[in-house]
Amino acid sequence: MADLKSMTPAELTAWCKDQGQPAFRGKQIFQWFSRGISSTEEMTDLPKALRTKIDREGGISPLTVERKQVSKLDGTIQYLWRLPDGNCIEPVLMRYPHGNSVCISSQVGCAMGCAFCASTVGGRVRNLTAGEILDQVIFTQKDSGLPISNIVLMGIGEPLDNYDHVRKFLTLVNHPDGMNIGMRHISLSTCGLIKGIDRLAEEGLQLTLSVSLHAPDDETRSALMPVNRATGVDALFAACRRYFEKTGRRISYEYAMIDGVNDTPRQAALLADRLEGTVAHVNLIPLNHVEESSLQPSSRVAAFQRQLEKRGVTATVRRRLGSDIDASCGQLRRKALRDPRSDSRRRERR
Ligand code: SAH
Repeated sequence: MADLKSMTPAELTAWCKDQGQPAFRGKQIFQWFSRGISSTEEMTDLPKALRTKIDREGGISPLTVERKQVSKLDGTIQYLWRLPDGNCIEPVLMRYPHGNSVCISSQVGCAMGCAFCASTVGGRVRNLTAGEILDQVIFTQKDSGLPISNIVLMGIGEPLDNYDHVRKFLTLVNHPDGMNIGMRHISLSTCGLIKGIDRLAEEGLQLTLSVSLHAPDDETRSALMPVNRATGVDALFAACRRYFEKTGRRISYEYAMIDGVNDTPRQAALLADRLEGTVAHVNLIPLNHVEESSLQPSSRVAAFQRQLEKRGVTATVRRRLGSDIDASCGQLRRKALRDPRSDSRRRERR
């Protein structure tokens, strides 16, 4: 079967030609997909024969809402969408003065095993296709009725562990015939897969790379993030330097503040040693407590931030959105997986 939803208009055009259809149908199909349709019946300007062909390819496979939670505090919306195979993904729509941003997943589950993260508890189930990653943006915009201008690839999964599909997604979401979201409005967050960072650097895209650092020293980082054990912090910073040299884009470092683990004055000093004089930004994240983990949020966030700023390293503290609905990544899917009455759990076990 052809994965039509992961195709560019040019690829759809070629597919249409193979089906004996005129070339202009390719763009039409892409535009229909971009509207988040739930059946080929809605593609009213396409001939019936072509719609049947799309159905035969399993073409539409829309996302359906399994659960939806809206924050009373700030309007954040967390979705639990069900994929056609029964797996679930949970984009979060956040409302900012500069526009609406959606946080999306790149995989079902995650293989990286970070000690503080809810997404990795059940391991990686599978990669999402480019079309599935894109559909999170399209269906969230459609269901909420809110125009989306920014995307963060910071939901479940490690985007650079699903490189080809994520790269293709970037092409699709950026396409003028579709969502047309500019690269500068997209952030990609990675736990630090060095080969992936180097590959991305070669592409010279203008997106923002966020690196989940969480500790400046190998001992702490390797304990928190298994991905660090093979490569180490030195090699990660070297890759980040290469990335900046190639793209000229400032790198953002994510740092979840964990009580007594990575929040000491010594670690702030080490981090400043690493970043002083470089073009970087540190995003300090108050740790979200994950039930499966004994790690606790730090009470030293402000002091840590001051210490970095004194050394000239820009650091901000991430504002928590949707705290009344548990909107942090992995939480809703975890709940659905745990809840024995949940349909999604039954389906995920199939
Ligand atoms: N795999 C990618 C993207 C997904 S995680 C990555 O590692 O960057 C998105 C961000 O949330 C990462 O910075 C991750 O480290 C952070 N995160 C995960 N669990 C968290 C928690 N319990 N509290 C705070 N931040 C967390």
